[in-house]
Amino acid sequence: MPKSGPVSFSPERRALLAGAAAVSSQFFLGKSSFSAPSGSTLTDVEEPLDSFLRKIPKAELHVHFCGTLHKKTLERLASKYRVDESESIEKAFDRSGFNNVLTALKLASRLMAQPEDLRDAVYATQQEAADNGVRYREMFWNPSDQEEVGGIPYAAAQEGLVAGLADAERDFGIVGRLIPSIDRSGTPERALRMVEDVLANPSSYTLGIGMDYLEADGAPEHFWKAYRMAYSNGLRCTAHAGEDGAHPRNIDTCLSLLRCSRIDHGYTVLEDETLTQRCLEEGIVFNVAPSNSYYSEVLAGQDWSVVHPIRHMIDRGLKLSLGTDDPPLHFTDPGQAYISIVRDFGATLDDVRGIIGNSIDGCWAPEPDKAAWRAAWLQEFDEMRSTLPS
Ligand SMILES: [Zn+2]
Repeated sequence: MPKSGPVSFSPERRALLAGAAAVSSQFFLGKSSFSAPSGSTLTDVEEPLDSFLRKIPKAELHVHFCGTLHKKTLERLASKYRVDESESIEKAFDRSGFNNVLTALKLASRLMAQPEDLRDAVYATQQEAADNGVRYREMFWNPSDQEEVGGIPYAAAQEGLVAGLADAERDFGIVGRLIPSIDRSGTPERALRMVEDVLANPSSYTLGIGMDYLEADGAPEHFWKAYRMAYSNGLRCTAHAGEDGAHPRNIDTCLSLLRCSRIDHGYTVLEDETLTQRCLEEGIVFNVAPSNSYYSEVLAGQDWSVVHPIRHMIDRGLKLSLGTDDPPLHFTDPGQAYISIVRDFGATLDDVRGIIGNSIDGCWAPEPDKAAWRAAWLQEFDEMRSTLPS
């Protein structure tokens, strides 16, 4: 999820990125024949490469359910419930208005007033993801929004989502799992209640918990009780941290105190060398979003492909997985995320192969499934890669 409101970029961080950029640039220039940015003149390979990146098998671990609804879906829901939300919907999809994304998520929650709406929406996004090569997807959803904004209690909401995931798996072969997510702008007590709901309504589709919304509104340590209850009852844990330029201590707190097995975003990790070393040693997976709006804003006018933290995270050998966050609101999709990491961030196809493996490593599926996917998907990747024009 992106930040709302104005963003700033400290002189210290600019200097840090500029220094790293010099190393990064040299590193990438010698590394790949596919490092040209979007809009390059490599038209002879562009289409096969993009098609390849769209089709390769993928696991996606960072997408928000309410951020997957297309404009036409919101319009259809508004029509169904006979409410006029045309102005809000227009603003949500205004390309100059990333600040409206969080409002759009609430709007989506409000317009899905029945479990069948959740079922239909999750089915639609799973179909779209399957068309983009996604075989396995773990999806955030906010029970507090569905209950308090949409009027659907936890059990009924989970039932609707599971129905859509099951139907999509049957029809498109994509496996979908759920991550109930804490809205960190709410209270720690509300978060605790969410975990109680998760535990009172166990489902094989619900594997763990997450935490999202504005990082500045809720330091991770405020939610230690909710995370401790989740972890001690066998749920896996992840959290958004280090997203909007937030201090890297938030990443440390999520790993050390909240027992997160992976981190969503985590772009500021490189500002703390000790923490970076720890993440390298422990193989922590960072679920990054190439379409992240914060960096689109703060790096505007700069050489995005050289100064972006994602590029430096690749350079340092951190384990990245690619997510779409809120795909239609960020004007992206799972295939485009992979196209962007190559064309905009200069990743090589070996890097992409590594990202596929990282996504499997970081996911919460049973280990035997992960081992089977690792073998089969990477073999498929290699076979598809061998057909690309040289
Ligand atoms: Zn997110």
